Amino acid sequence: MRVVVVEDDAGVAAAVIDGLRTHGFGTVDHLTHGLDLLTSHTGYDAVVLDLGLPDVNGYLVLRQLRKVSTVPVVVLTAEGDELAAVSCLRAGADDYMVKPPRVGELAARLEVAVRRWQATGSCTAVVVTGDVRVDLSARQVEVAGEAVALTQKEFAVARVLVEQAGAAVGREQIMDEIWGEKTPSTSRSLDVHMGALRAKLNRPGLITTIHGFGYRWAR
Ligand code: CA
Repeated sequence: MRVVVVEDDAGVAAAVIDGLRTHGFGTVDHLTHGLDLLTSHTGYDAVVLDLGLPDVNGYLVLRQLRKVSTVPVVVLTAEGDELAAVSCLRAGADDYMVKPPRVGELAARLEVAVRRWQATGSCTAVVVTGDVRVDLSARQVEVAGEAVALTQKEFAVARVLVEQAGAAVGREQIMDEIWGEKTPSTSRSLDVHMGALRAKLNRPGLITTIHGFGYRWAR
């Protein structure tokens, strides 16, 4: 099981990470900034998300994340901040714990959330278009039965389009969801990753360019 802990407080992060490893979580990675989670959440089975982050409020991070991912999220809240906890649950958090969390209990809550996710997520996470098959939860893409190796960013671009297959998706939305910002630099990055994604999939017509707006993944 792969977990990422997003927490800028070194002491809390170390305690949580050590504790989760002790409780049998195989990979426990650490991020200190919310935007880093938005660019590298794929491949994780669960997220532990602190709300007080140095760059972006954890609640906003959660809302952005929920546009592109159903990965289980357990939020860490400050003591007495019940309002924040309720907002997060409404915005799609699976659970919350008050800091500092009892790590055994956090591990148990993560396991429950992941089990629930795996039971319900698997049927809707596969999108098939022609001979292209995208498995969002396994992060696997196959074309004509052959696995295609995508980078994290290429997969992220594919995911945003696939989750709205058949609909036009604006470039701004894609940049916002993957990089958290719209700048000339992220715009160029999007062009590069889109070009690479199209080349690897090698299915002209699968991703249509809508000039002046964005892209559409065929349904
Ligand atoms: Ca913090």
